[in-house]
Amino acid sequence: MSSDAPDPIDDADANGAADPRDAGAADTVAAADGPDDEPEANDSAVEEAAKRTPSTVPLRVEGLVKRFGGVTAVDGASFEVESGSLTGLIGPNGAGKSTTFNCITGVHEPTAGTVYFEGEDITGLRPHQIARKGLVRTFQIARELSEMTVLENLMLAPQGQLGESAIRAVTPGLRGAVVEEETALRERAWETLEFFEIDHLAHEHAGNLSGGQRKLLEMARALMTDPEMVLLDEPLAGVNPTLEEKLLDRIHDLRADGYTFLLVEHDMDVIMNNCERVIVMHQGSVLAEGTGDEIRNDERVIEAYLGEDL
Ligand code: ADP
Ligand code: MG
Repeated sequence: MSSDAPDPIDDADANGAADPRDAGAADTVAAADGPDDEPEANDSAVEEAAKRTPSTVPLRVEGLVKRFGGVTAVDGASFEVESGSLTGLIGPNGAGKSTTFNCITGVHEPTAGTVYFEGEDITGLRPHQIARKGLVRTFQIARELSEMTVLENLMLAPQGQLGESAIRAVTPGLRGAVVEEETALRERAWETLEFFEIDHLAHEHAGNLSGGQRKLLEMARALMTDPEMVLLDEPLAGVNPTLEEKLLDRIHDLRADGYTFLLVEHDMDVIMNNCERVIVMHQGSVLAEGTGDEIRNDERVIEAYLGEDL
C-alpha cells in the first residue's frame, strides 16, 4: 500500500478553510472558546469521566456518510470497535479512513449516519466535547504550538481544565483550588513525558523535535485529556525503527491499562503484528472485517489492493 501523497486532512496548513470546523479542531485547545461551550461549562473533566459507563463496544459507527461537494469521501461506513482492543483500520489511499476519523471525533460534521461512543449518540458534537467524553484523536502539532515547549504543549492539552482554571482564578476563595489543579496538571504532564521517555525534551521547543519525537508528543498530548479511546492516524509515518518500537510498546502498555485504540497504518506488517482485529475500508465503506489472517486472504481485499503490496 502506498501513502506517499500528503494527507490533506492531517496537514493543518494545507487543510485551512476546507471545513469551518477544521481551524479550531486542528488543536483541541483552540476549540475551547465556542459559544456552544456554555452548556457544559460546569462539567469538569473529572465529573465527565465519572459519568462514563463502561461498554464492551465503546465505539459504534452506523451508516456514516461524508460528502465534500461532489466527492463522497465516506459512503455508508458501519463498524464497531471492542473495548480494550487495538483495532486496525486499513484501506487503499483515498478509502476514507482519515475522513472517518474526522467525522468520529467531530472535526467534520457527517453528512449522514450516527456515531455512538459508550452507547451515547455523539454525532455532530464538537471535538472538545467528544474529547471530554473520553474519545480523542491525535493531531499534528500546529504551528503556534511548535513555538511552545514540550511541557507547555502538554499543560495546554486538557483545555477543559484550563478553561475552568481561568474562571476560578478570578473567583475569590477559589485560588487555592486553582493552584492545586495546576500542580496536579504539571505532575501529570511530567508523568506523561516520562512514560513516553521525552522528559529530557520538556523545555525544548516542540518545533525542534525530530519527526518521531513529535509523534510521541502528539500521543502524549492526546493522553493528557484522560481518554478512554484514542484514534491514531498513521502515528508511525516518518518514525525511525527505534522510536517506532517505542511507540508501539507504549500503545501496548496503555492497552494493558484498559485503553482502546483504533489505528490507521499503511504498513501491513505493523497491522498484522499488533492488531487483533482489522477493518478494511474501500471507496468510503467497510469492505471486510476480521483477524489479520482473515483479511489478508480475503479475495475482496486483495482485489481492492490490486497493484499494491498487501
Ligand atoms: P484516506 O485517509 O483513506 O487516504 P481520506 O479520508 O483522506 O482517505 O480521503 C477520502 C477521499 O475524500 C479522497 O478522495 C479525498 O481526496 C477526499 N477528501 C478528503 N478530505 C477532503 C476535503 N476536505 N475536501 C474534499 N475532498 C476531500
Ligand atoms: Mg488518511
